[in-house]
Amino acid sequence: MSQLPTIGHLIDGKLTDGNANARSQSVYNPATGKAEKRLLLADKTTVEQAIRSAQAAFPAWRNTPPLKRARVMGNLKGLLEKHADEICALITAEHGKVLSDAAGELQRGIENVEYASYAPELLKGEHSKNVGPAIDSWSEFQPLGVAAGITPFNFPAMVPLWMWPMAVACGNTFVLKPSERDPSSTLRIAELALEAGLPPGVLNVVNGDKEAVDTLLTDPRIKAVSFVGSTPIAEYIYAEGCKHGKRVQALGGAKNHAVVMPDADIANAVNALMGAAYGSCGERCMAIPLVVAIGDTTADAVVAALKVEIAKMQVGPGTDASSDMGPLVTKPHFEKVRGYVDQGVKEGATLVVDGRGVSVSGHEDGYFLGPCLFDHVKPGMVIYQEEIFGPVLGVVRVKTLQEAMDLIDAHEYGNGTCIFTRDGEAARYFSDNILVGMVGVNVPLPVPVAYHSFGGWKRSLFGDLHAYGPDAVRFYTKRKTITQRWPSAGVREGAVFAFPSSK
Ligand code: NAD
Repeated sequence: MSQLPTIGHLIDGKLTDGNANARSQSVYNPATGKAEKRLLLADKTTVEQAIRSAQAAFPAWRNTPPLKRARVMGNLKGLLEKHADEICALITAEHGKVLSDAAGELQRGIENVEYASYAPELLKGEHSKNVGPAIDSWSEFQPLGVAAGITPFNFPAMVPLWMWPMAVACGNTFVLKPSERDPSSTLRIAELALEAGLPPGVLNVVNGDKEAVDTLLTDPRIKAVSFVGSTPIAEYIYAEGCKHGKRVQALGGAKNHAVVMPDADIANAVNALMGAAYGSCGERCMAIPLVVAIGDTTADAVVAALKVEIAKMQVGPGTDASSDMGPLVTKPHFEKVRGYVDQGVKEGATLVVDGRGVSVSGHEDGYFLGPCLFDHVKPGMVIYQEEIFGPVLGVVRVKTLQEAMDLIDAHEYGNGTCIFTRDGEAARYFSDNILVGMVGVNVPLPVPVAYHSFGGWKRSLFGDLHAYGPDAVRFYTKRKTITQRWPSAGVREGAVFAFPSSK
């Protein structure tokens, strides 16, 4: 048995290893390639224990005044700010992203906690007096019971915070299954939630893999499932969850296009593209892996400027303040992304900047891939069609905005897109008509703020409601409409067989 420190689960307010015979796997530091921790994978029994705890905590939590629940969110916000450096260090040690990027992710997560603290206002119902003779009617939003969240590796702090704070602020209890690749920051935040005053059982964290997920998907006590991850798994989660009678929202993968118009401010557009393509090593569902340049003159200018900017980039460990880009998350993912670069060359795209073979001194076993840039990428190529999720940017050349929009509309994903232009009419036409859920105009990463909702179209989201923001309040509650009459004592009315109406 390995001597590495272990990571277990948080059930009923206590850290636990779960079933002693459960499987386990290593958690690596991607900057060094070394296994640093051993993650205990929850089996069915352990997940069921977490569900039981959440189920037991539900009645009291449901009846806790919304303002008291909201105060826990306020306390948590303070604790997350106080422990920000510690949390960011955990993110970088397991994900690899640079510390400033981890800080940005955490801040976006904190903003979701802050929005969840407005739940008492957001949960207010709708009231109508005298809908009939002495009859009043109102709608209220009741919690569902136990909800579950299943999250990806690329935002281990932020994406869980999209889910459970609003779920519990609305009166639900929760079982969270974080990514097995970088679970430590997620678990630490859950511990801080206890310190903030969340009663035991309201939030439970089970680390694990498919066995844990499948237990959540099939257990009848789980009423709703929020998922964020890759499209094949999102599709599976949606189908399985629905089959078992749950409300499901499953956010999937992406391949976001940025359109650069001939009138765009090229220098500003290129700076924006650099961060959007290579920030977090391209491991963001809102990253820009494709530029669609309108006209060869635009494309030539964009490619030339990108080359200059890429040459200035520093690749190195995320803990080094001079690094712009850290390593990829795991060795298999590194190999997969490098394989896509090989594939692009084979398919005939022009590899303008080759990041393969980058080596970081003192970190030779880290999963570092330098920024890669392809020109003359064509629809139909695998590197155009598939989500690479790495530092690989492709330039596609088209002649008109309409041609660019047709390409984007035909793509299987519809998460995010953006247009760089000074032409208001073109921008308005683009944002009005494009078949994508989140659109930026001169904004490369149009990730909605916490008080709007986040979600893509087409195969980037399965379900009806988007994540966080106002949609989350609807996702984690059920509407109930009550119609009430108190007839005056002593007044007797005959039976009425016609359907009641206001006529
Ligand atoms: P992933 O799909 O591999 O894993 C996501 C979660 O699903 C993890 O918790 C994992 O344990 C679980 N899982 C994996 N395989 C499973 C299986 N066979 N059965 C049941 N559960 C399984 O995704 P990832 O690699 O962790 O994250 C990257 C992906 O997430 C990318 O595709 C990215 O675009 C997507 N993503 C989407 C959004 C969005 O909002 N649309 C946000 C972030 C990431």
